[in-house]
Amino acid sequence: MNAVEVKKLSKIYGSGTHALKEIDLEIPEGSFFGLLGPNGAGKSTLIHCLTGLAMPTGGSAAIFGHDAVDEYQKARHNIGLAPQEINLDWFLSVEDTLDFHGGYFGMRKAERQKRTNELLRDFSLLDKRKARSNFLSGGMKRRVVLARALMHRPRMVILDEPTAGVDVELRLELWRYIKKINQQGTTILLTTHYIEEAERLCDKIALINKGEIIETGTAEQLKKRFKQKTLEDVYLKVVGRSELTRSLGIT
Ligand code: ADP
Repeated sequence: MNAVEVKKLSKIYGSGTHALKEIDLEIPEGSFFGLLGPNGAGKSTLIHCLTGLAMPTGGSAAIFGHDAVDEYQKARHNIGLAPQEINLDWFLSVEDTLDFHGGYFGMRKAERQKRTNELLRDFSLLDKRKARSNFLSGGMKRRVVLARALMHRPRMVILDEPTAGVDVELRLELWRYIKKINQQGTTILLTTHYIEEAERLCDKIALINKGEIIETGTAEQLKKRFKQKTLEDVYLKVVGRSELTRSLGIT
C-alpha cells in the first residue's frame, strides 16, 4: 500500500501560475520521504493538494487509497500536517490546542486527555499546558504545532520545513522523536532546505523544480545517477547554485 499516490497531478492557480505540471509520485507506507526543491518549486502546492487546502486542476492524489478530493475526510484523517507557518490560535492554551484538534478528528474525551498528556510529556510542554500559545517561545510554538499534527495518531505526518529557524538542540530532539515514530510505522513526508539533513534522515528523496519531479530515489541512487559525491552537488546540478543560495537565505 502506498501512503501517497499522485498521478498526473496539475495545479494552475487563478493567476495563471502553473505550479504543478502533471506530477507522478508514490510514497510507500512507512517510508521517510524527502521532498527537496528551491523556493517556488511547488512543494507547498503539492502538500496543499494532498491535504485539501488546494484544489488540483488535473490528475489525482490518493492518501492510503482515499482520493484527496472525493474522499477528503478519509484522506485527511490519515494525515498530520505541521505547516511551515506557525498557525496556532493565540488565545488557546497548549492543552486546549491539542484537545480541540483531537475533537475535530472525532477522538473521545478520555482518549484526548490521555493523548494530550502523552504529547505534552514527549515534547517537554507539561509545565506550559495552561499557557496561551502567544506567550510561548518560538521553539515551544514549533513543538506545539508538531504535537498537534500527531494528536490524532495519523498514519502519515507531513513536515513542511519543520526545523527552519529552530535551534540545534530542539532540532535534534525533534528528529529523535520523528525517527522513533517512523520506526513505529508512521510515514513521514518532509520538505526541507537542509539537504544534508534530508540525506541523513530520508530513505527516499524526490527532487522537484519548477512544478516537475526531476528525479526520485535513495540519496545513493541520486548521487550515482547524477555522478556526484554529495546530495548537495546533485541538488546544485538540478536546480542551479543561485537557487540553493536563495533557498538557504544566503543572498
Ligand atoms: P514552494 O513551496 O516549493 O516554495 P509553492 O508551491 O509555494 O512552492 O509555489 C509554486 C508556485 O506557485 C510559485 O510560483 C508561487 O508563486 C505560486 N503560488 C503558490 N501559491 C499560490 C497562490 N495561492 N496563488 C497563486 N500562485 C501561487
